[in-house]
Amino acid sequence: MSAPASPDLFDVIIVGAGPGGLAAGLYAARAKLKAVVLEKELPGGQINKTGVIEDYPGFSTIDARELSQKMADHAKEFGAEIRSTDATAIRKKNGAFEVDTAEGVLRSRTIILATGGSPNYLGCKGEAPYQTKGVSYCAICDGALPLFRNKPMVVVGGGDSALEEGLFLTKFASHIYLVHRRGEFRASPILQDRVKSNPKMEILFDSALDEIGGGDLVEWARIRNLKTSQVRQVPVSGVFIYVGFTPNSAIVKDAVEKDEKGYVLTNQNMETSIAGLFAIGDVRQQLTKQITNAVGDGTTAAVAAEKFIHGTLGQSPVGAGRG
Ligand code: NAP
Repeated sequence: MSAPASPDLFDVIIVGAGPGGLAAGLYAARAKLKAVVLEKELPGGQINKTGVIEDYPGFSTIDARELSQKMADHAKEFGAEIRSTDATAIRKKNGAFEVDTAEGVLRSRTIILATGGSPNYLGCKGEAPYQTKGVSYCAICDGALPLFRNKPMVVVGGGDSALEEGLFLTKFASHIYLVHRRGEFRASPILQDRVKSNPKMEILFDSALDEIGGGDLVEWARIRNLKTSQVRQVPVSGVFIYVGFTPNSAIVKDAVEKDEKGYVLTNQNMETSIAGLFAIGDVRQQLTKQITNAVGDGTTAAVAAEKFIHGTLGQSPVGAGRG
């Protein structure tokens, strides 16, 4: 059971307004819970950093920001509040949760953690000094900048992000060196087919980006073949890095169970090891990181939070235990 209701106490605070958080907000609002969704940036989260979404059922293709906006509007239509503020810490105190925000401390009976994650840095020479000067982690945000127009670029990584964003960049780049450390991609086959048939894409398997250099802005990249050790310096104006993702789970100050990469462990009700704390979407350990997963997780968590508040959730036999 959760803490008893009181006027300054939310039923649920949803931290993060990505697709998962917005779906949780929608379902919490429909269940008439006193709910707020906290977001430090724009509603939509990671999808705002993508161009076009092609794998959300019902929309064969939709602009990512349009989908974000539709999700936020839909949640608000049913009464969910979306508050623009930075949540910095979550802890459990006397049976309720406290969330530190830029506007002060908010209290809630339950929390849905929907904080997603952030792109990893590669760590090569020149990466840090050239950030915002040609090194980027978001093609949709930066790809159309004049400094990249009709210039060669490097994309690093072999997952969905690298291939999808690399394909997006072919609209602007004259040529793309796609650098991947192994001899095969982990990206979905459909993206692999598109990359392999795109004349602007030069795939460099078994390769590493060793160094980025130039003057005030990026001018070149040094790429090493990991099998032959042969080094090639290519003139480029942009370097886009997609080498994985780190979950934003450090905000939970109490010891919530996580895996070795920091993903929060949950059961099928999205419950974590702390009673009343639910985790959804990219911050939790699961097989895939898709918008559809996050939305499903958000639905489950909102329903589970309502049952938790009413003491009817029960104990799930699968996944992490509840503290
Ligand atoms: P990811 O799938 O983890 O791929 C990261 C890539 O970076 C891998 O190819 C990995 O190489 C490489 N890498 C990791 N560390 C590296 C290092 N230190 N140096 C060089 N290369 C390194 O990450 P992601 O592409 O960001 O995707 C994250 C999740 O979001 C995935 O589940 C993905 O399916 C999902 N996603 C889906 C879509 C979509 O469906 N439209 C779009 C974007 C992302 P190895 O392959 O050798 O490990």
